[in-house]
Amino acid sequence: RRPYSDEVKRAQASSVASPGPTIFDKIISKEIKADIIYEDDFCLAFNDVSPQAPVHFLVIPKKSIPRLQDCEASDKEILGHLMLVARSLGSERAPGGWRLVVNNGRHGAQSVYHLHLHVLGGRQMGWPPG
Ligand code: IMP
Repeated sequence: RRPYSDEVKRAQASSVASPGPTIFDKIISKEIKADIIYEDDFCLAFNDVSPQAPVHFLVIPKKSIPRLQDCEASDKEILGHLMLVARSLGSERAPGGWRLVVNNGRHGAQSVYHLHLHVLGGRQMGWPPG
């Protein structure tokens, strides 16, 4: 088995139970700077600080939802909206295709407990992921 990357180690040390605002809440409130590429009333998209592909940005809801598994039926509209925004920005920035990733919980290697879609592109992706 491959050794765990720093990102996975960070994810293993992180937990949904951590109190207080996450780094993404602080990006939404502009307390922390990010390279924002899109914003509307419901979501924000910004480049990942540690890109894993030539195109790697995150699309996050402004609503604080820790994990995909914490979503409710009433979040249907926001979830659809995130996908549509990912689709538009992905098509613009990675016209050759892209990958959408949601890491959920510890085994999913989620490190920031504010729901986010990763959009990765600009190169050929491999399969299976690690
Ligand atoms: P996760 O592992 O799916 O939770 O992904 C969290 C992502 O957020 C990782 O790819 C990090 O590189 C990224 N990230 C963490 N902090 C920041 C930041 O301040 N700005 C932009 N991206 C960040």
